[in-house]
Amino acid sequence: MKQINLILVILTLLLSYPLKSETLLALSGDSDKSLRISPWLYYTFESESEGIEQIRKFSTTQWDRLSLGDNNHIALKPFWIKFSIYNAEPQTINRLLSLGNPHIDKLDIYHFAQNVLVNHTQVGDTFPFHQRPVINNLFIYPFELAPEIVNTFYIRVDTEGSANLPLSLWSPNAFAQHTEASALSKGFQLGALAAIGFFSLCIAITSRSFSYSYYAGYVLSVTLLVATLQGLAFRFIWPDWPMLQHLMITTLVPLSIFFAILFTEKVLLLKYHSLPMLRLCRYSSAAALLLVFITPMLDYSQAQYINIFSVLLVTTLLMGIASILAIRGHKLARLYTLAWSGMLIGSFITGSSYLGLITLPIKHLTPLMVGLTFEIIFMASILAIRYNDERKLKLQTQQEALLQSQRIRKTKEEALLIEANSNEKLEQMVQERTLELEIALRELNEANQKLTEQATTDSLTGVKNRAAFDKRLQAEGRLSRRQQTPMAILMLDIDRFKSINDNYGHLAGDQILRFIAQTLKEKLKRPADLVSRFGGEEFAIILPNTDQPGAVQVAEQIRKTIYDLPISWENIDIPLTISIGVSSEIMQSETQPTKLLEQADKALYRAKNDGRNRVMVYTPEPQKEIDHTQS
Ligand code: GH3
Ligand code: MG
Ligand code: MG
Repeated sequence: MKQINLILVILTLLLSYPLKSETLLALSGDSDKSLRISPWLYYTFESESEGIEQIRKFSTTQWDRLSLGDNNHIALKPFWIKFSIYNAEPQTINRLLSLGNPHIDKLDIYHFAQNVLVNHTQVGDTFPFHQRPVINNLFIYPFELAPEIVNTFYIRVDTEGSANLPLSLWSPNAFAQHTEASALSKGFQLGALAAIGFFSLCIAITSRSFSYSYYAGYVLSVTLLVATLQGLAFRFIWPDWPMLQHLMITTLVPLSIFFAILFTEKVLLLKYHSLPMLRLCRYSSAAALLLVFITPMLDYSQAQYINIFSVLLVTTLLMGIASILAIRGHKLARLYTLAWSGMLIGSFITGSSYLGLITLPIKHLTPLMVGLTFEIIFMASILAIRYNDERKLKLQTQQEALLQSQRIRKTKEEALLIEANSNEKLEQMVQERTLELEIALRELNEANQKLTEQATTDSLTGVKNRAAFDKRLQAEGRLSRRQQTPMAILMLDIDRFKSINDNYGHLAGDQILRFIAQTLKEKLKRPADLVSRFGGEEFAIILPNTDQPGAVQVAEQIRKTIYDLPISWENIDIPLTISIGVSSEIMQSETQPTKLLEQADKALYRAKNDGRNRVMVYTPEPQKEIDHTQS
């Protein structure tokens, strides 16, 4: 790949060069070159803390060719590597030596030119960041290659983590290009992870959703872990605290596992699907939390082993749970399995690489990073689906509740309508009954009135009877006394009525009585005047507020009218006359009305005696009674 433009001349200089069995890397001076130098590396383990001088004296048989799998795994004891470069060009070449593993604890780089020490540099993540010769998240050693000179590098490697040594040689141009491209891809990956993490955190805070909280915790701790693994966190977050490097890695791995388990438990709804699985997850998360606190206290390489083992175990466990649920037909579990499988494959490859089980020509972390990115993006979509499902369910429930309340309201309205209708009917019925009652009352009243009327009326003639007369006489007497107005009484008797009865029959007599009564009623104009049948063929008349001359005048008119009337019975004319006794006075005592009546009766008696058909006014002396008859 990168070797395409590089002219490699591998010379075997068995005679001219002290390290006779070694291969030598010869360079031409083209500017933009990069080269992985693992094929030219030799290594030897440090046996008794030898210094550079002793190491340089090692014979070629003590150095071994470094194959790809030799130093890949973790927790090796300190060792030395060496390689030689020959500048075949006539001019000086500038090169950068880079180490793609930012977690090597300590590197001692000794640079010799023609067996003369040119430089000794110490780098590693146990030193503060600013001490690096070139500020980069990888370890960079810049140097010059003088023309036609062999440069030899001895590097002492001392690390507790993975001793993987992706050493490359760069021209400054090529390195600048590579840095730019790799910064872009790393930045993109970290940016995407951080964006998903913070977005989930926001959703978790606003929706108070546990699944989103756990997911946010998972993604954010993974993001920080990735930043740490790539050396970016050291560079930008804690450049002056090298010891945080180991601490963060050992803590963040179990923390990510902890959140991953909790998140899985929620998103797969284990509470509803399987209690044993739920219990398993709870125990595992508790164990992961315990590891968060325990691992920083352990030896770094031990902690690394535990972490890698935990990652493999938990990934397998979660994959197993998801697969079982997926087989049972759980929709989200299927998607989860798919997402988790990316992570599983990635972490298996990376873990195996770290443990030295497999050897691949890529960086250890690359498979994990790819799997992780795939998994996190996929998980975000699963969460979104779950969230949408829940939202739909909620909406459906709300709609059902709405329908239910509408139904209740309708029923209530109907009940109210029925009540209103029945009220109206009731009211109508009450009104009808009231009306009927009123009518009955009125009829009763009328009947009563009729009864009273009947009780005070003479049945033959239709004028007032004797009882009504007596009552009225007393009342008018009191009025006359109070107002000091004269009251008159007319006593009226039909002359020779017996003979009429005898000659024409009683029916004719009755007819005449009715006729006279009618005439009397018509003649008396004042409403207060009262006509009554006093008894037999006698009528008594009360004229309130009428003095004697007035009373005489009325009496005379009546007498004359009766006298003038043509009365016939069965076509035979009947001559008819009446006699009237008059008395008028202002009442002075309670008994005077009765006296007045007697006086009128006396006057009538005298009228009869005087020859009938006349009006006679009462006077105390019988001789002086005056006859008013004018005809
Ligand atoms: P006078 O008064 O002029 O002296 O003669 P009189 O015939 O009217 O005398 P009296 O008063 O004695 O007679 C009254 C008669 O009137 C007796 C009776 O035959 C008659 N009479 C009384 N009440 C009624 C009645 O209700 N109907 C009829 N048809 N006649 C009655
Ligand atoms: Mg008579
Ligand atoms: Mg009489």
